Amino acid sequence: MTKCPECDAEIDLDEDEVEEGEIVGCPECDVELEVTQTHPVHLIVISEDEEEEEEDEDDGAKDDDDEEEPENDEEEDE
Ligand SMILES: [Zn+2]
Repeated sequence: MTKCPECDAEIDLDEDEVEEGEIVGCPECDVELEVTQTHPVHLIVISEDEEEEEEDEDDGAKDDDDEEEPENDEEEDE
């Protein structure tokens, strides 16, 4: 029996069913836990990294995708 390091809830993990590095979720507090050890199972809380990385996005540049399809009605004028 493993305990959630976050909320201390008991997590029923079979050490034969998890692998080191596996990510499991706590059913009680919904935190993500990483298995760092399997005999016995040891879990650490994965701290949620707040994404502060600014992505290179062209802000303000709306992608106006109004390419007009070239009308393809050539009149066969023979
Ligand atoms: Zn928990």
